Amino acid sequence: LVTRLRDFGETIFAEMTRLATETDAINLGQGFPDTDGPASLLHDAAQHILGGVNQYPPGPGRPELRAAVAAARAESHGLDYDPATEVYVTVGATAGIAAAVLGLVEPGDEVIVFEPMYDSYPAVIAMAGGVRRPVTLRPTGQAGAARFTFDPQELRAAVGPRTRMILVNSPHNPTGTVFSPEELAVIAEVCREHDLLALTDEVYEHLTFDGVAHVPLATLPGMRERTVAVSSVGKTFSVTGWKTGWVMGPAPLVRAVSTVNQFLTFTANGALQLAVAEALRSEMAWVAAQRDALQAKRDRLSEGLRAAGFEVMRPQGTYFVMADIRPLGFTDGIELARTLPRAAGVAAVPAQVFYDRAEEGRHLVRFAFCKRDEVLDEAVTRLSRLS
Ligand code: PMP
Ligand code: GLN
Repeated sequence: LVTRLRDFGETIFAEMTRLATETDAINLGQGFPDTDGPASLLHDAAQHILGGVNQYPPGPGRPELRAAVAAARAESHGLDYDPATEVYVTVGATAGIAAAVLGLVEPGDEVIVFEPMYDSYPAVIAMAGGVRRPVTLRPTGQAGAARFTFDPQELRAAVGPRTRMILVNSPHNPTGTVFSPEELAVIAEVCREHDLLALTDEVYEHLTFDGVAHVPLATLPGMRERTVAVSSVGKTFSVTGWKTGWVMGPAPLVRAVSTVNQFLTFTANGALQLAVAEALRSEMAWVAAQRDALQAKRDRLSEGLRAAGFEVMRPQGTYFVMADIRPLGFTDGIELARTLPRAAGVAAVPAQVFYDRAEEGRHLVRFAFCKRDEVLDEAVTRLSRLS
């Protein structure tokens, strides 16, 4: 393994899912739903495969999907992207993020990332030879209802002469924070002032709760021209295994992404792209119902965790809730997550692995609530035996 990747071992998701399988534990670690996406989506995909859509689609993606992505973005956020040159389909958001970083970050360039950070970000920054500069999100507000946010001063202080890009994930995994218009305005101001690029990971764009709206950073003044936005189908339609995503941005930035991606994966599954294109037009009511169901699941698991003795934060979106383990007498989330499947029959993910400043997340564990109610209830019953 090359030296610049020597700090990267097996991902925490692989480790915890394997542990869950070995111990037959309920897997509230890796974020994937245990129910399927809309029936029409599954049916369409099967029909396209049986109907012969089985060879390479165009490198940038099927025109039907690029058009549907552009139309959805215009309708929801008033952002116009030319499907021919400003939308590009990738193998999940993961490949889009990787291609954007590899195509836009020079060795030695710095990338500002909010921590806790999704695990692929530090890895692809390292692959590009870039240097990450973490800005820490910290819980604020009442115990039990805390929301994670950043200190604008800390963000400004992270910018230096080599800063090239800010990577913004909202709704944010693992904290569940949906950046407010005010927070986005601070980020946008820093980008404009220092002429930085923004890479936005919006895979949870439709999964926000309590009426909180997801605002794409590209909608802020001066931001469309410097932002590469990434999303994907996995979370929106509960098909995380489909690995179909897309990148949206001004043509020169999308060209940088496509230059890299044509040699990474060249293209992505065409039959799935056709099915997703149709679902983006016809199944948004399903998505709204799914969002409401997830909000109820957030509340269900949060209440259960609280009753079991955890202190629970309040996510505004995503699949995840962060829990403080200290009220139960534990101090190290990694230790707890490694023993929990055997000790309690439940798997979770220690948040510490998403931090550079490890002490900030030592006492935090992430639980996924994108599961059937009876599964969540059984998990809570098992966790209640901890105290
Ligand atoms: N970004 C975030 C924040 C995620 O949680 C995930 C996991 N779904 C991804 C990217 C990867 O998305 P995809 O499966 O579309 O590659
Ligand atoms: N995005 C999901 C999570 O955060 C799964 C990621 C993965 O398995 N790589 O849990």
